[in-house]
Amino acid sequence: MDQAVTRSLFPEPETNCSLCARLTQLRTSLQQTEPDWHNAPVPTFGDRSGRLLIVGLAPGLRGANRTGRPFTGDYAGDLLYATLNRFDFTDGTYAANPADGLSLIDCAITNAVRCVPPQNKPTPDEIHHCRSFLRQTLDAMPRLSILLALGRIAHESILRALDLKPKAYPFGHAVRHDLPYRTLTLFDSYHCSRYNTNTGKLTEDMFNKVFNDIRDSLK
Ligand code: SF4
Repeated sequence: MDQAVTRSLFPEPETNCSLCARLTQLRTSLQQTEPDWHNAPVPTFGDRSGRLLIVGLAPGLRGANRTGRPFTGDYAGDLLYATLNRFDFTDGTYAANPADGLSLIDCAITNAVRCVPPQNKPTPDEIHHCRSFLRQTLDAMPRLSILLALGRIAHESILRALDLKPKAYPFGHAVRHDLPYRTLTLFDSYHCSRYNTNTGKLTEDMFNKVFNDIRDSLK
């Protein structure tokens, strides 16, 4: 690895977790071609006593898979961390590097799938396999009250991790769902990927609105 990765305070899969054969194969191959990259399950980052958990899809190849910290090192992270800073969820300056000293306040970030998938597309089986780690992350946050799903896959995996039926809680940008589990509230947003912002599916204003709603809800 080219950057120091802070030890996670959350329950995590083993760094050589092999529950997903295809993802294990990709990681192993990347360890040969890119030996300085993280190339392992990307641990949850942030404040275990936080009230907000943000759940993305999976590590980006040259983002979190390279640096070892969720959303760090690619465009999606630039937008996410700038927004977190705007809404006072950060301490320090994001510099696209796990050694930048950034910490999160009242908030943590994880992914529905911890290992980088080919073409950024995990299979249903891979999402299912990694859901046990998502559930452990939820259970490890005693003050958790708000979940933010970045995209439909994260949304559905959160619901299934809580034994709830996705059909009863349809995904929609800026939609809020009050869940019958630990009085949790689930907010949805389109994923803050470069593709979504380039195509206008997600604008900065739309993303800000979701965080504004979350801030109001945390008051
Ligand atoms: S995606 Fe999750 S379950 Fe699959 S190999 Fe990686 S850590 Fe294990």
